[in-house]
Amino acid sequence: MNHAQSDPTVQPVPASVVETVDAADVTLSNPKLAVVALGSNLGNRLDTLQGAIDALGDTPGVRVKAVSPVYETEPWGVDPGTQPSYLNAVVILKTTLPPSSLLERGQAIEEAFDRVREERWGPRTIDVDIISYADVLSEDPVLTLPHPRAHQRAFVLAPWHDMDPAAQIPGHGPVAALLTALGTAGVAPRADLELRLPE
Ligand code: ATP
Ligand code: CA
Ligand code: CA
Repeated sequence: MNHAQSDPTVQPVPASVVETVDAADVTLSNPKLAVVALGSNLGNRLDTLQGAIDALGDTPGVRVKAVSPVYETEPWGVDPGTQPSYLNAVVILKTTLPPSSLLERGQAIEEAFDRVREERWGPRTIDVDIISYADVLSEDPVLTLPHPRAHQRAFVLAPWHDMDPAAQIPGHGPVAALLTALGTAGVAPRADLELRLPE
């Protein structure tokens, strides 16, 4: 509670100090681990995935810690053969951004790559999904955490497991067990393709 107005002995904090503290919060203190899934099935898919990774790395308050192998996957949730296949990858970030800002940044990256939203699960140059953010649980439809369908998707679990075999989805348990139960049909490693950490 701010007593500055009601108690004349308490001096209000100058705005410049508040701004300095806020800026430090966003860029320095208390980083959280976040897992982000990327998918592309239009245009130069590999270049776009790398562009999205570089853009995440250029974000103040975000550091890309690990980039998964690349997988080629059948489109999920649509009739077979109706869309080009995807390239998918997962990245692990450390970030001081709050979840909402990370979502906004992901959406700005989608826009920068001219993503068009026409139909549900339609083709796209790039999809940026926040899979998990620390151990945060949220049922907000604007940002559901962990991602509500990640545990059913081998194209998320397989690359994530490659990077971090001990990974867990908050509320769903070990990625390894989820992946074993789900299987990897329609999800093929592309060992000939490589994504790199941002420079
Ligand atoms: P899916 O969510 O099944 O992977 P999609 O990625 O095709 O489908 P989008 O059209 O990209 O869906 O996103 C729809 C909405 O989902 C977004 O406007 C966003 O607010 C919301 N959303 C909720 N939770 C998340 C999350 N964890 N990561 C990204 N977007 C989310
Ligand atoms: Ca998605
Ligand atoms: Ca999405």
